[in-house]
Amino acid sequence: MLRGVLRCLRTNPVAGQRSMSQSSLAGKVAIVTASTDGIGLATAQALGKRGAHVVVSSRRQANVDRAVALLQSQSIQVTGTICNVGKEEDREKLVQTTLDQYGGIDILVSNAAVNPFFGNIIETTEEVWDKIMSVNVKAAFLLTKLVVPHMAKRGGGNVVFVSSVGGYQPFQGLGAYSVSKTALLGLTRALAPELAQDNIRVNCVAPGVIRTRFSSALWKNDDIMDGFKQLMSIKRVGEPEEIGGVVAFLCTDEASYITGETITATGGINCRL
Ligand code: NAP
Repeated sequence: MLRGVLRCLRTNPVAGQRSMSQSSLAGKVAIVTASTDGIGLATAQALGKRGAHVVVSSRRQANVDRAVALLQSQSIQVTGTICNVGKEEDREKLVQTTLDQYGGIDILVSNAAVNPFFGNIIETTEEVWDKIMSVNVKAAFLLTKLVVPHMAKRGGGNVVFVSSVGGYQPFQGLGAYSVSKTALLGLTRALAPELAQDNIRVNCVAPGVIRTRFSSALWKNDDIMDGFKQLMSIKRVGEPEEIGGVVAFLCTDEASYITGETITATGGINCRL
């Protein structure tokens, strides 16, 4: 069988070239929110390594500078700006900076999320509820709204939301956060059919427990991890790069027939609504 494939590649060189170009993002312009650490940074790396020009951002200039320097050291074309996704003026500046720097937008990875409260969902205050929904859901939608006209001008594009395994099975103590992640599954499905007419695909990735600062209370606690491992087929914490690669795949032409989907990357934790 392997010999057959090799013969096919030798006699049909276009097959080899085609698969390379399908996985390439050369010349594409990608905005990744909350991309100075963890999953966002790994996603910026994965997109950049496939040839995309990447715009990284987060709330703190020092973090932006550090991420830009790291990506530049890996020969990735990158620029950075401050963007707290919860602030309208920051979202507008992020889009404008991207247009000024690279002249268009092809990819948006909406990765930012907050969780300011741990406890029973019924004890969530209105203020905390609004904050979670505003940053995790509303900002994702409003940023999408800002970039869509620019993607349409380029003849298409890709939007990827970062949800969570908690969007399927709410984490205990993280009720409102989990609900916000469920909302992203719905947002993906609602946007995909509308934006398909502009050749824009809308997909989502739902990570399991990934080794980042955000989730350190989970993976640094052996008792909690033992509980998760019982649900996992691959019995270990995931690495940010294992999510970045999935996001990048969704943005390439290899995923050209996928829209409105959520890919779970959870080490096999069963996910269903
Ligand atoms: P992380 O490693 O702690 O990184 C968080 C990043 O977000 C930092 O770059 C931070 O930089 C930035 N940030 C925080 N608030 C922001 C805001 N309001 N606007 C813009 N940037 C902001 O977190 P992570 O684990 O990679 O989480 C990324 C995404 O993955 C989140 O949507 C999270 O819900 C999701 N997720 C994570 C896991 C997991 O196990 N880690 C599992 C499922 C889903 P600044 O401090 O400079 O703003």
